[in-house]
Amino acid sequence: MHSAHYIEKFRVLERPDVTQKLCAEFVRRFHDESVDVVLGAAVGGIILAYETARQLGCKAMFTEREEGVMKLRRGFAIHIGTRVLIVEDIVTTGSSIKELIGVARSYGANVVGAAAIVDRGKEPLQLDVRFEVLLRLPLDLYEPNSCPLCKLGVPVQAPGSKWLHT
Ligand SMILES: [Zn+2]
Repeated sequence: MHSAHYIEKFRVLERPDVTQKLCAEFVRRFHDESVDVVLGAAVGGIILAYETARQLGCKAMFTEREEGVMKLRRGFAIHIGTRVLIVEDIVTTGSSIKELIGVARSYGANVVGAAAIVDRGKEPLQLDVRFEVLLRLPLDLYEPNSCPLCKLGVPVQAPGSKWLHT
């Protein structure tokens, strides 16, 4: 997907004092869910999962992509019935957060919910688990083949892992 806007999550994640407060808000909303594992996606999700788990007093794990497929590596083990909280920095279409839920469920986990700092989608993201987002910030988003910026010849750049125009 293309957009005229990019949110660089590392302007927040480079500040432990601020990240701690954001994760405290995740914790406030899910502290009564007896979370066993907080799960995020590399790279940003490693930091969010770790800090949220540190505050909850549980484990932190993260997924990585292997040939495009999101996986648990490094011996991370989720068992049947493990109570998993998914954390994500920024959601756009929700595809990454849905993959995270899918990975956890593939091990038989009980996904008790998901939390994100920002939902930048046009419509609020709907998931089949409780979803808490700290900031709704709808921004433009285009399919590459119907992108008005491409039609204007604006070059595409890809900071992080996303494509965008600047
Ligand atoms: Zn474009």
